[in-house]
Formats: sequence, structure tokens, C-alpha cells
Amino acid sequence: MTAHIIDGKAFAEKVRAGVQANVSTLKEHHNITPGLAVIIVGEDPASEVYVRNKVKQTKEAGMNSFHFDMPADTPEADLIAKVEALNNDPAVNAILVQLPLPKHMNEAAVIEAILPEKDVDGFHVINSGLLATGGDGMVPCTPSGCLMMLKDTLGDLSGLNAIVVGRSNIVGKPVAQLLLNANCTVTIAHSRTKNLREEVLRADIVVAAVGRPEMIKGDWIKKGATVIDVGVNRIPAPEKGEGKTRLVGDVDYSAAAIHAHAITPVPGGVGPMTIACLLASTVTATCRQKGIEL
Ligand code: NDP
Repeated sequence: MTAHIIDGKAFAEKVRAGVQANVSTLKEHHNITPGLAVIIVGEDPASEVYVRNKVKQTKEAGMNSFHFDMPADTPEADLIAKVEALNNDPAVNAILVQLPLPKHMNEAAVIEAILPEKDVDGFHVINSGLLATGGDGMVPCTPSGCLMMLKDTLGDLSGLNAIVVGRSNIVGKPVAQLLLNANCTVTIAHSRTKNLREEVLRADIVVAAVGRPEMIKGDWIKKGATVIDVGVNRIPAPEKGEGKTRLVGDVDYSAAAIHAHAITPVPGGVGPMTIACLLASTVTATCRQKGIEL
């Protein structure tokens, strides 16, 4: 293995230290404590673990955390009423509704109910529109973490060929937009892309956000490319014992690491950065709402 391993855990710690310092400044100089509200509907075990981590890290950063559990059969109108109450609550600067929502709910309608300036996930159409037009909106957390790691590893990204594999509204498209804003030449690949291997082989930056275990092979990676693996896939791990599983990304990590200049591992790469960026975005939202520049 030759690639530099991009340590998302260590990077996230640095981001969280910066957030803590900003929260202290807001308290000491402006008497403001940022508040993040998280709503979870139903009982998805993966979401519950994730939300528990969010609550813990929000408190550790010195911010107020408001947590609401709603039953899986909550009517959509009740969830929207909760969001509207939080929109009007001055102690809440950032609102996150944990996805996925139960099937009877229209996710788009719920997200559109969040005030854009409190939409800390950056999924509201106003925020995706601002990202697409170069405005100052709220930027989705996982894509934001990807860009931070790329800039930290490579410095100026101008002129580099980047490919984003995956075109979801929450990862692929915003990552592509951020890369474009950083002056990369961007290709977006998806399930209908022809000759994916050749497309990936041309890229200096590969961002994989597909959700298919190890589908991007080592020999698809151009020598010296930087690889950001967003995928989180649980696969059987009989070597650990019967019924055991392990997490892998969308990239065949050990094979890709032979060709890449730098690569994120799974776990320990993009994942830890997502919550760190959520905390940073909560501070950004608070400052914008109060007209404060830190
Ligand atoms: P989606 O399922 O919404 O999107 C997957 C994308 O991959 C689609 O655009 C799809 O194309 C594309 N795709 C599917 N099959 C192929 C293929 N064979 N070749 C090329 N493209 C393909 O997933 P998300 O964007 O929500 O998530 C992607 C991954 O990232 C998941 O593993 C998820 O768990 C992980 N994730 C990790 C986070 C973190 O914090 N680390 C946060 C969010 C997500 P098409 O549009 O044509 O169907």
C-alpha cells in the first residue's frame, strides 16, 4: 500500500475543536448559545445510533441540543407542525429531521417546511438553489466534509478532473456542485453511465457515493488520484465468526490504495466528518441569523 490514508477521525476532532472555540466566543462576547434540534420519526436502529452521537457531540461542543422522538405512525401534519414550532423558537438555530422518514410521509414536503436559514442539512430547495448559483446557503454536511478533506490533502483544486459516482440530492449532486465551485472539471456518473471504469480512470479526484460494496475497483484508479469513499455498506464477515458483519465502502480500498495518492478508509473517513460539519454548520447558521462574523 502506498496511498496516504486520510484520517477522518483526526480531522473531525480538529473541526470540533474549532467549533468549540467559536461557541465559547459566541457565549462570552455575544451571550448566545447555538441550539440544534433533531427530530427522529420511528425506530430505525442505524438512525438512532447516529442521532445519539449527534446529541452527545452537540453538548460536548457547548451547544444546546433539543431532541424529539416521534412515533413511526405520526401523521405528516404533526411532524410539519413540530418543524414550524421549532422555526419560531428563538433558542433553536438549526433544525435537522433525520431521514429516511416513514413511507407515509412526503420527505420533500417536510424539508420544505424547515426555514431555509435553519435548514442545517442544506436539503431545502432554496439552499440547493443557492449552492448551484454560488450563493451563501446552508451546505449539506457530508459533501462539505468531503471538500474539506480534499482541500486539506490537495490544496487548490483548480483545473483538476473530478468524478462523482452517484447523483443523489443529498450527496452526489452537492459534492459535484462544491467541486465545480472549487474550479474542478466535474463528471457526474450514475447507474446509466457507460464505461464507468474509463470515466473513473481519467479522474484526479474520485468521490464514490453509490451504496454498493467495493464496486469501484483498484485498477479503475488513476495513479496518483485522491479517493473519497462516502459509501457505507455492511457485508457478511465470516472470518470474524458466524453471523458477523463488517463495514466497507464503495471502493475496493486495499486495491485502490496501491494506485491512489491518498484515500479515505471506511470506517474512519467521511463518516466522522459528517457530524463535525453538522456542528460547524449550526454555528454558521447561528452567526448568520444574528449578523455576527467570527
Ligand atoms: P442513493 O441510493 O440515493 O444514490 C445512489 C447513487 O448511486 C444513485 O445516483 C445511483 O444512480 C448511483 N448508482 C447505483 N448503482 C450504480 C452503478 N452500478 N454505477 C454507477 N452509479 C450507480 O444513495 P446516497 O447518495 O444517499 O448514499 C450513497 C452512499 O453513501 C450510501 O452507501 C450511504 O450509506 C452513504 N452515505 C454516507 C454518509 C456518511 O456520513 N458517511 C452520509 C450519506 C450517505 P441513479 O441515480 O441512476 O439511480
